[in-house]
Amino acid sequence: MLANFIKTLAATENPVPVIGPAFAEVAKKYHIGLLKSVFFVAPSFSTRKGEDREDILFSSGTPTEQTPSYSETYYTGEKGVATFQMYRWLGEPEFTEKEKEELKAYADTLLVVFGRFRMINAIKQIGHTDQLTGLPNTGGFLTHIDKIIAKGEITKYNAFYFNLARFSLVNKRFGTKETDTIIYRYANEVAAFFQEGECLGRLGGDNFVAIVKKERTQEFLQLISGVKTYGMLNSRAVPIIISAVAGITEITGEIPHCGTLIEDCGMALNMAKYVTKQPYAFSSVDMKQRFYEERQYVSRFYEAVENKEFKAYYQPKVNIDDYSIVGAEALVRWEREGKLVPPGDFIPVFEHNGMICALDFYVLEQVCSDIRRWLDMGIMPGRISVNLSRKHLSNPNLAEEIMQVLGKYEMESRYLEIELTETVNEEETEQLITFMNKMKVNKIAMSIDDFGTGYSSLNLLRSFPVEVLKIDKSFLDVLDKNNRIILSHIIRMADELGMSVVAEGVEHMHQLECLKEMNCKVVQGSLFDGPMPREFFEEKMQKGKYSIE
Ligand code: C2E
Ligand code: MG
Ligand code: MG
Repeated sequence: MLANFIKTLAATENPVPVIGPAFAEVAKKYHIGLLKSVFFVAPSFSTRKGEDREDILFSSGTPTEQTPSYSETYYTGEKGVATFQMYRWLGEPEFTEKEKEELKAYADTLLVVFGRFRMINAIKQIGHTDQLTGLPNTGGFLTHIDKIIAKGEITKYNAFYFNLARFSLVNKRFGTKETDTIIYRYANEVAAFFQEGECLGRLGGDNFVAIVKKERTQEFLQLISGVKTYGMLNSRAVPIIISAVAGITEITGEIPHCGTLIEDCGMALNMAKYVTKQPYAFSSVDMKQRFYEERQYVSRFYEAVENKEFKAYYQPKVNIDDYSIVGAEALVRWEREGKLVPPGDFIPVFEHNGMICALDFYVLEQVCSDIRRWLDMGIMPGRISVNLSRKHLSNPNLAEEIMQVLGKYEMESRYLEIELTETVNEEETEQLITFMNKMKVNKIAMSIDDFGTGYSSLNLLRSFPVEVLKIDKSFLDVLDKNNRIILSHIIRMADELGMSVVAEGVEHMHQLECLKEMNCKVVQGSLFDGPMPREFFEEKMQKGKYSIE
């Protein structure tokens, strides 16, 4: 009988449905009316909430004793306790020692069979579980969403993709090991918010996903805007507040695939992080369109370089006294499928994807090659400035690479100027100063672009006077009292520090007159010309100056 029992249970992966029928014969022999299992497992990594359950495995329907007539308790490998209880028919005598010994063999069998069953489940579960936090991983999260979709309840929820803000600083400060523990603590704090049906998952690193009931969206955003936890540093608990940036998708109807849900949220997250620079953003149709375009830009980049679709356009810089052309700024354009794409559309995308450095060098080569051509034609181009993204500053060989390009076209450095916008942090400022020193040695002029709109202007000038300040167009747009005061002082300060000033975005005569009064020497703007292709600029240079009534 025992052999049969073992054989039946061993033949199936999930023993629960077959235990009842398999035990019936045993129950009849020993006059047992009820077989129960009781599981208690403390909360742990594999079972976040722990377990405390009682199941009826077999019931004959016959009235039984109130207390178990035979019970066997085992300690399980997961720091849990499993008990199997057998209740005899009402009024039956107690089991003899011999009977108990026989029944123990059945209980032992049940333990082994359940152990195997729980192990199989645990393995399946681990495949869907993030090893660090015990939260669902991508697979686990998507499985959960699938279940909610199957229930027809998905529109009750909003989906979130969130990323911990400035988390690399935490990593730097506490080290990888402690940072892992911080993520674990953080996950626990956030997980405590979740209710039945909702789900928090970790995709890896500091990226989390969630679905939360719609009406709890604001509450959830509030929670993740600053989670208090701590990190251990030299055996001391240092309190930290972790804030997250989130992309949210409001689920309003059918979703084609649950993967697209994560993708939509990811798009919104990027929007919040890089474009609006807000703690969160909701995904929208516009955003999807934009994201799609961005992806197209990125995937088309190398092909576009190959096809020479990027063109340096030139915007003349004009001497304010005699309107002679003293140089130009090279501004990139993308001639794409017969259309001219302005840099504002693709430069932020390439900055984000790291392609900007390749693009800037491509433009630099074109400019050097054009200058070589002009010099060979006997045209004196003055000084041509090229914009470099600040992304270059982390390249320690930047100056050497620029000099290599100049060498390739046998070009003197006095024809080139490098424009960089103001830096935003100390580390970058240091890199900028190192770079500027090298440029100085190589006699290449440097200008600070969009001067007055960044953070470090004066500090930078104190540490290193550059050749040119390019005053941002915004100061000229509204020539009110305050802007006039600022403008005239920048111009005077630059003059006294031995720098020159180029005023950008001069569109109207009254702006020009105002700048003249302030003693500004060089201007650039549509009042004279906007950026133009090389051939047109060649013609302008041959004329040499503008005439304006
Ligand atoms: P920026 O370097 O400050 O360039 C000046 C921008 O003002 C140019 O816009 C120019 O066309 C525009 N502009 C000039 N005069 C006027 C005017 O009178 N009125 C108005 N409304 N605008 C005027 P553009 O060409 O669209 O370039 C935008 C920005 O893209 C540039 O600002 C620069 O930061 C960036 N950029 C352009 N080419 C490159 C490049 O090759 N590499 C890098 N890294 N950035 C570039
Ligand atoms: Mg510029
Ligand atoms: Mg500018």
